[in-house]
Amino acid sequence: MLPLLIKDILALPPQSQEVKVSGWVRTKRDMKNLVFVEVNDGSCFAGIQCTFDRAGGLNSFAEKALEALATGASVEVTGKLVSSPASGQSVEVSASELRLLGEAPADDRSGKYPGLDVKAYPLQKKRHSLEFLREIAHLRPRTNTFGAVTRIRSRMSFAIHRYFIQNGFHYIHTPIITSGDAEGAGALFQVTTLEPEAAVKNILPGGGIDHSKDFFGRKTFLTVSGQLEAETYALAMSRVYTFGPTFRAENSNTVRHLAEFWMIEPEVAFAALEDNMFLAEDFLKYIFNAALEECADELEFFDAHVEKGIIETLKQVVNAKFAHITYTDAIKELEKTSAVFEFKPSWGCDLQSEHEKYLTEKVAGGPVIVTDYPKEIKAFYMKLNNDNKTVRAMDVLVPRLGEIIGGSQREDNLEKLYLRMVEMGMKPDEYSWYLDLRRYGSVVHSGFGLGFERLIQYITGMANIRDVIPFPRAVGQANF
Ligand code: ATP
Ligand code: MN
Repeated sequence: MLPLLIKDILALPPQSQEVKVSGWVRTKRDMKNLVFVEVNDGSCFAGIQCTFDRAGGLNSFAEKALEALATGASVEVTGKLVSSPASGQSVEVSASELRLLGEAPADDRSGKYPGLDVKAYPLQKKRHSLEFLREIAHLRPRTNTFGAVTRIRSRMSFAIHRYFIQNGFHYIHTPIITSGDAEGAGALFQVTTLEPEAAVKNILPGGGIDHSKDFFGRKTFLTVSGQLEAETYALAMSRVYTFGPTFRAENSNTVRHLAEFWMIEPEVAFAALEDNMFLAEDFLKYIFNAALEECADELEFFDAHVEKGIIETLKQVVNAKFAHITYTDAIKELEKTSAVFEFKPSWGCDLQSEHEKYLTEKVAGGPVIVTDYPKEIKAFYMKLNNDNKTVRAMDVLVPRLGEIIGGSQREDNLEKLYLRMVEMGMKPDEYSWYLDLRRYGSVVHSGFGLGFERLIQYITGMANIRDVIPFPRAVGQANF
């Protein structure tokens, strides 16, 4: 049997049964005969207080362990579960035994060999900056903030799978290594086993490297999106989704971009843009509701210490009826307002996040879905409208953030898709497999993409995307 988790111990009635607590020491307060040790095991926000009574007959072994114990140490405490006189907790452990499993010294200690030094435990009781914690990303899950982010990330992953599976979707594992650049969604990481010297030797007559000598016999990349592959499965399984890692060599040092991040991409056959809009709204409400219900303690913490108003905006989205507006009408709204924008809006330009925030916060007063964007600013696979100028694209905008979801109805007409690819300078030959979906049994289909870390940022209010993924990969950063 597995040892009890603190979250389960805290839910037990205080009937003086004996419990064993395993975890890491957050604080130790020494008050003459009484010593209070707070132990946390990551299972829930709260730790459990273990009270040691020196006068109450601690054995000498426990007495010694208690002296050596400090913040960060791993322990196993045995004692009786009793109701707690302290505020903010219903039970505590009246401890009788203590095993110090692993020390965490509060001062530097030199080791027997070079490289075996033990520096003072870096996570002392005081508040540490997020920048500092990023440098010790292997220890930061032991803090309140990262424990809470980790639990939310995990539970939201499960809620996402639950939503799709309950609604008849199949989870598809799309490849991480691909040969197409999937729509030119972003800068690519190349995957190659050619050593730089071999690459230099394998120059083609006209210049360029001969990738027929490379591992896959062609040029390959880390995927930027699983959408095109997901479409193939949607046109066989009707409702599918991907949820996996994607990569972009984004050379931008922003708080919203990672080089490696996780993306959720549902794709639905027999669904037009309106159905896709319904799905996006229903999905977001389900996920935010799950956060409010299943991570209430964590959200309260983020609302109080990270960004005020988090819970209120999530509730607002859950209870709202999402507004709909076309891109053309959205531009009209932006042009007629007296609000000042850094980028002047005009038809044909992509919406900047200042425009998106204005539309959701000032025009719609809640979540809004913008549809039918000019084809020039959207990907090749989006369904062309009869006006020949706009495509069946949709962006879901939410207060406080702007765009959270981007999606579209896909072009299902073979000739139109072919002509659009040629128009955009793509080589239809390379996408022959993708065009086959329009050659054989083509159907109306739609889908969207959602960056998982952006979703977690929205739910937690964490400002920097590097703080909502365990080990961030970004320009100049691939530690651990
Ligand atoms: P942005 O304009 O923010 O760079 P994008 O238009 O490049 O986003 P898409 O190509 O539509 O984004 O990708 C789908 C989703 O993936 C985005 O809505 C966003 O949530 C997420 N995303 C895109 N790039 C990144 C990145 N570098 N790091 C984390 N998430 C990302
Ligand atoms: Mn981008």
